[in-house]
Amino acid sequence: MKLEDRGPVKILEYKSKCPYCGLDSLTVSEYIYNTPFMGSVLITTSICLECGFKHRDVSSLDADNPSKIKVRVLGERELRYMVVKSSSASVKILETGLEYIPGPYSQGYITTIEGLLYEFQEATTIACRDAEDRDKCTSIIEWINKAIDGLVEFTLILCDPSGKSKIYGDNVIEELFDQECMF
Ligand SMILES: [Zn+2]
Repeated sequence: MKLEDRGPVKILEYKSKCPYCGLDSLTVSEYIYNTPFMGSVLITTSICLECGFKHRDVSSLDADNPSKIKVRVLGERELRYMVVKSSSASVKILETGLEYIPGPYSQGYITTIEGLLYEFQEATTIACRDAEDRDKCTSIIEWINKAIDGLVEFTLILCDPSGKSKIYGDNVIEELFDQECMF
């Protein structure tokens, strides 16, 4: 039987205080997305009609405890793993020291491990424009490009103190949030 993907269904809409301008003009909408591959995902979008502030977040309803999720990426198969990355998740690639640390306005979204690599590629390219050590920058970008093509193996760690993130695949190890997540 083919599982039907009906897309997100709106379950709730309410007004709230905007974290940016402080007015009660934030419209928050919540959607449940039941997917064949990722179980149930809660998608939250917030839009302020006064100042234009926008925020998006996701939360896997199959995950709960503060989590550390580790994936040994061997090639293309793991690059296609689906990732529910909530706004409180941080991501690290052990072999390179590349880190993504969330800020107060970080967004949550659904992506793949390959998609996370593209984010590192974009951020590193921007950071490298004014970097002193251009050779090091170039070699990191080259490494990311090889990883996107599935040519290098690496270990990716996603830490989420809210426990709302999840990675879907057979090569995924879920552990308790610990000091490996303090980066
Ligand atoms: Zn606002």
